[in-house]
Amino acid sequence: MIDHWVIRLANKVVKEKGKAIVIAAGITTSGPPHLGTVCEFLYPWALVKELRRRGVDAYFVFVGDIMDAFDSIPTSLREYGEMLEPHLGKPLVHVPDPYGCHRSYGEHFLWETAKIMEKFGVKPDEIVGSNELYSKGFYDDYLVFFAERLDLVKRILEETSLRKLPQSWKDIVLPVCEKCGKIATTRVLGFNLSEGTIEYICDKDVGYTKGCGHKGKVAIRDHMWKLAWRLDWPSRQDFLGVDVEGAGVDHHTRGGSWDTAVAIHKRLFKKEPPIGFKYGFILLRGRKMSKSKGLGDLNYILSLVPPEVLKYFLFRGGLEENKNFKDDPRFLLSLYEEFRNIGLLFEKKAKVKEPGLAKKVYAYMLASESEKASLHVSFTDVLVIYQIYGDWKVVKEKLGFPEEIDKLRTYVENWVKLNIIPKEYRIKFNPTPISKHVDVVRSFAGKLRENMKDIEIHNLVYEVAREYNVNPKELFKTLYEALLGQPYGPRLGRLIVAIGVSKVKETLLKLTEK
Ligand SMILES: [Zn+2]
Ligand SMILES: [Zn+2]
Repeated sequence: MIDHWVIRLANKVVKEKGKAIVIAAGITTSGPPHLGTVCEFLYPWALVKELRRRGVDAYFVFVGDIMDAFDSIPTSLREYGEMLEPHLGKPLVHVPDPYGCHRSYGEHFLWETAKIMEKFGVKPDEIVGSNELYSKGFYDDYLVFFAERLDLVKRILEETSLRKLPQSWKDIVLPVCEKCGKIATTRVLGFNLSEGTIEYICDKDVGYTKGCGHKGKVAIRDHMWKLAWRLDWPSRQDFLGVDVEGAGVDHHTRGGSWDTAVAIHKRLFKKEPPIGFKYGFILLRGRKMSKSKGLGDLNYILSLVPPEVLKYFLFRGGLEENKNFKDDPRFLLSLYEEFRNIGLLFEKKAKVKEPGLAKKVYAYMLASESEKASLHVSFTDVLVIYQIYGDWKVVKEKLGFPEEIDKLRTYVENWVKLNIIPKEYRIKFNPTPISKHVDVVRSFAGKLRENMKDIEIHNLVYEVAREYNVNPKELFKTLYEALLGQPYGPRLGRLIVAIGVSKVKETLLKLTEK
């Protein structure tokens, strides 16, 4: 059996929860989706795929936590700073959409996340904002239930969060202040459950914003409140019937919100909690990403590589390990080539025995969607040949697989436009006179034949170098100089085939004329 976390997790889920499974995921859409966001939907999606492959009825619900407070203005939205600033501390669903196309800031970024999911081929059965779950009254009974057991709830929170709460603490819920609209700054003073109201004061200073001092009451049925996160999570899991849900390691540390959720399920709801799984962070060049710093912009990364390559990157490793992504072109090229090679193995239905490799082939299967990936042409070749000819018709003639090339086209054009091609792949056919090894190059050119394959040309370089007793490395360098005007380049055989063998022959003979 393949030793992959998705398989192990699916085994556990089926064994403990049966054949109809609800998988939940959720994020606070407090800004543009970044690379770290993909964990939140790709890991559950991998599980959904594996369960469905086994004929399990898997239902995937994705929740946008947009009742959460708007706590910082992302760097990429700095130009809207003046407009957004007064809304700090309000629920994201009450903050205006800076782009004006959605009802709120929170909804804008929730739907932007949904669009990104679509790019990755991730199709939740349901995407819902937490505001809707609140306004439909799903949380009402939970609020009352917790309020009636305030002491026990407080004790569970203290034990599982490893934090002592103040004597007067009653903050199982965060009311929205009716005066200033903020949710981050309110404190509960008391409950009147027979009347169905929560009494609060808006007086907290949370660093990025301050309360207005207003003292008021909010009716439970008006839904201008949200439960504290540690209570919101298990409540939602309970009414959605969640069987399995993942979260980042930060939620799963000792004192983290997962421990609270489990305790609430067991000790208050008297039910078995969902199965949890925890995943590591995606680092970008070794650093943790954050929405506010605007690092790891997903749209940018997806303009450089197809989404399935990023999925493969995520799925090939362990679940809990941190994964270091680099938006550096050399890293992306080698990742792409690995993806392609593994994809070819998968396509051939090759029997792979070596465990590490088998795991990668399985990761490829999870990463690929029904639409076929471009496996038969190398990204590097397309990049090189496009630079030489600048004409997609010629690229297709030279490499074949026109449909695959069409799929890679925008990525290659972006690499060229953004000028991020590593120098050894940066090509311009640029015949340049040479001063060294002129006879050797001339002899090499004389031996080139129109129908030679790249590997034959490669071998010819060694042959001629031996014949003239020069270091093959030297000869390669000289040939690059002659063809490109620089001492390096992509694989010479491929390069010469790409330019055209007779054209190279003619060029080299002319350059070495006596
Ligand atoms: Zn919008
Ligand atoms: Zn207020």
